[in-house]
Amino acid sequence: MGQHGPRPGPQASRQPSSRQAALRGGVLGAGSESEEVGKSGPGSPPVGLLPCLDSACSCPGSLPVVPAPGGCKEGTGSAFTCPARVAQSDHGCAMRTALVHHEDMTAARLLWEDPECEIERPERLTTALERLRQWGLEQRCLQLAAREASEAELGLVHSPEYVSLVRGTQTLSTRELQALSGQYDAVYFHPSTFHCARLAVGAALQLVDAVLTGAVHNGLALVRPPGHHSQRAAANGFCVFNNVAIAAKYAKQRHGLHRILIVDWDVHHGQGIQYIFEDDPSVLYFSWHRYEHGHFWPYLRESDADAVGQGQGRGFTVNLPWNQVGMGNADYVAAFLHVLLPVAFEFDPELVLISAGFDSAIGDPEGQMRATPQCFSHLTQLLQVLAGGRVCAVLEGGYHLESLSQSVCMVAKALLGDPALPLSGPMEPHHSALESIQSVRAAQAPHWKSLRQQGSTPILNPSTYSLERRASPVSPGGPKFKAAEAQASAALSSLLDQLHLNPTLPVRTAVALTALDAALVLPADVLRKEGSAPQEETRAWARLHEALAQDKALTALGKVLHLLNGILDGQVSSGIAATPEPALAPTLDVVIRRSLSHGARRLLCVAVGQLDRPTDLADDGRNLWLNIRGKEAAAPSKFQVSVPLPGTTGGFVSCVLALVLPLAYGFQPDLVLVALGPAHGLQVPQATLLASLLRGPAGGRVLVLLEQGSTSQLAGVLARVLQGEAPPGLGPFSMASPEDTQALIYLRGQLEAEWKMLQVAAPQVP
Ligand SMILES: [Zn+2]
Repeated sequence: MGQHGPRPGPQASRQPSSRQAALRGGVLGAGSESEEVGKSGPGSPPVGLLPCLDSACSCPGSLPVVPAPGGCKEGTGSAFTCPARVAQSDHGCAMRTALVHHEDMTAARLLWEDPECEIERPERLTTALERLRQWGLEQRCLQLAAREASEAELGLVHSPEYVSLVRGTQTLSTRELQALSGQYDAVYFHPSTFHCARLAVGAALQLVDAVLTGAVHNGLALVRPPGHHSQRAAANGFCVFNNVAIAAKYAKQRHGLHRILIVDWDVHHGQGIQYIFEDDPSVLYFSWHRYEHGHFWPYLRESDADAVGQGQGRGFTVNLPWNQVGMGNADYVAAFLHVLLPVAFEFDPELVLISAGFDSAIGDPEGQMRATPQCFSHLTQLLQVLAGGRVCAVLEGGYHLESLSQSVCMVAKALLGDPALPLSGPMEPHHSALESIQSVRAAQAPHWKSLRQQGSTPILNPSTYSLERRASPVSPGGPKFKAAEAQASAALSSLLDQLHLNPTLPVRTAVALTALDAALVLPADVLRKEGSAPQEETRAWARLHEALAQDKALTALGKVLHLLNGILDGQVSSGIAATPEPALAPTLDVVIRRSLSHGARRLLCVAVGQLDRPTDLADDGRNLWLNIRGKEAAAPSKFQVSVPLPGTTGGFVSCVLALVLPLAYGFQPDLVLVALGPAHGLQVPQATLLASLLRGPAGGRVLVLLEQGSTSQLAGVLARVLQGEAPPGLGPFSMASPEDTQALIYLRGQLEAEWKMLQVAAPQVP
C-alpha cells in the first residue's frame, strides 16, 4: 500500500452502528440469499452450502474436494468423499493440513497505470502455488477448491449497499472502474473483482469449516484480494471484503465458538479488522505493523499501542507498532514471547486465524523488514500450541515474489508438522523493538494478568503519534535500497542451501523404550527403534558411572545411545528414550558428553526435577544447563540457570515464555535434551507443551529422556507432539504466585545483560 496520504472518500467514514447491527446477527444480503448464516431447519444444510454429496457423511454441508495427487486414494474411492469423513476413516491416510485456493482468483488485475497498486498482481498467487508444488508441499495437503461466499456471508461484516456496489462493478467499463477505485485509498477494481473477492472469503470460510469439523488440523488459504483493511462499507488498501473478519464471525455464528484469536502479522495495520471487533471481547485481535510514529500508511492514531479496544472490548485489541524498519527474526520472536503469547494463553482461544501477510518478510518493498522466511515457520509453530492446534492462515499482503513464496512454503511446512529450520543471525532485539514491546505491555497490563505479573514497566510515551509526514527511510533505487535488496537475495538463497542441508527426514520421531512398550500407543509414523549402540561403545560409556553397570540400565543405555546417534547423524529428527530411574542422571551425563563429542556444537539441556549438572562439564559456552525444580542454585550464571517449578498454569506459561524460550532462542542450540528426572512434578500437558515449544530453537532436534516409571500415556502424547501435533490444553488459567513471579523477575535481572531475548523493555540510555 502506498506511501502517500489517504484520499478523501468513503474510507474516511466509520460507522459504529455497523457493529451493533452485526452483533445482532442476521445481517442480510440481497435477494434470495437473505437468510441468517448458520441457522437452518433440522436436516437442511446451512445457507450457502449444498447438502453434502457424500451420502455416508453427516457434516453440515459440502466441502468440495479436489482429489490430491499422491494423496489418499482409498478415501476418495467413491465419486465424492467428504474431507470430514476422510479424516475419520481408519486407513491412516488422513491429512493434517488443508490448502484452499482457486485459479480464478488470479483473474483480477490492474487495468490502468497506478504505481501504488501495481504490486498487487496475480503472480503473487501463481508464484506461491508453483513453489508449494515444486517443494512437494501442495501434494501433502488436502486440496480444497475455494467456493464463492454467499451474500449473506458477506453480510456478516459488510453493509448490503456496499456489497451491492461491488456486485455492480462486474459490468462497469474500465473508465468507470478507475473512477470508482479513485474514491478509495489504494484500491483498484476489475470486472472479475467481485467473483475473486467472493472466492477469497469463501476460501477462508471453507478452511474454517474443514478445521472445525475435524477434517484437518489446520490449513492455509491462498487468496486474492487480501482483506484486513476492508471495512463495513469501504474497500481499502487492495482489500475488498474482509476475509478473516468474516471468517471469525462465521466461526462464531456457524460453529458456536466463543473465543477467537486473530494474529495479523502483515506489515500493515489491519485497521479494518480492528474496527469490526474493537468492542467485541470474543475476538482478540493482535497486529504488529510498520508505524514509524504514525508516518507510515495508513497513518492512523488508532494503530498505536494505546489503542486497546473499546467498551467490553478493552484489552482485546493489541497493537504493536514498529517505529523503525529493519525488524528481524529476534524482534518478531520476542514480540510473540513477551506480548502475544502470554495474552493468548490467558485468553485461551478455540481457533486461531492468521492474517498471513508476508510484506513483513525480508526483501518486501512495503515493509522493509528483515525477518527471513524461516521465521514464519517458527511463528506458526508457536501458534500451534494454542486452540488445540486449530490454526487457519489466510493470505494477506506480500509483494516480493520470492520472499512471499518462500514464506508461504515455510508456513505450510510448519502446518504439516515439519520441524522449522533454525533461525540464523544474532538473536538480539533492536532497541526500538524493545521500546514498542514495553509500550504495548504497559498499555495492556491493566487488561491481562499475565502481563501485569511479569514485572510492570512504566508506560513509555503513551502516545508516540506524530502528524508530521515523513519520506520513506529507504527510497527505491537509492544505495540503501540496493543494499537491502542484496541482503534479501542472500537470505533467500541461503534458505535454499539450508533446505538442502536439512532435508525433511523420512523419520521425524523415533522412540527407544523398553519397559513401557506394552501399553504404549504411538502414531503410525513414529519409528520404534529396536537396535542398540555397539556393545563396546555402550560399555565404554557405562564405565563412567556405577549405576550404569546394572543390566537393565546398560540395556537402556545401549538403546538411548542408538537413538541419540540417529539424531546426531541426521537420520531421525527427534526421539523419546527411557531408562530405569536410578540410571537417569548418569544416562543424561553420558548423553550430554556423547552429544558434545559427536557433532553437537551447542547443546541445551532442560533438566526438570532433581538432576545435577555434571560437575566436570567444561564451561566453554557449548552447553546451557537449565534446571527446573532442582536444587536452588547459589547464583545464576550465563550457562547454568535454575528456576523453581511454578505451581499454577499462569506461572508455568510465564516460566516457559519469559525464561525457557528466550534462553533457548538466544542460545541457538543444535540439539535440545529434555530430561524429566526424579520428582519432576510436570503434568502431561505441561511436559508436552515444553517439548513442543522446544522443537523450535534447534530445528526440531529434541531428545526427551524419561524414567521408565513414567506413564505410557506421557510417552504417547510426547511422541505425537514431537510429530508436530498440538499438546493438550493446560486447563483454566490461574495466576502465577507472587513468589514464582519474583523468581522470574530476579532471574531476568541477573541474566538479561547476557541473554538479550529475555528483555521486555528497552535498556535505559544513561
Ligand atoms: Zn500489508
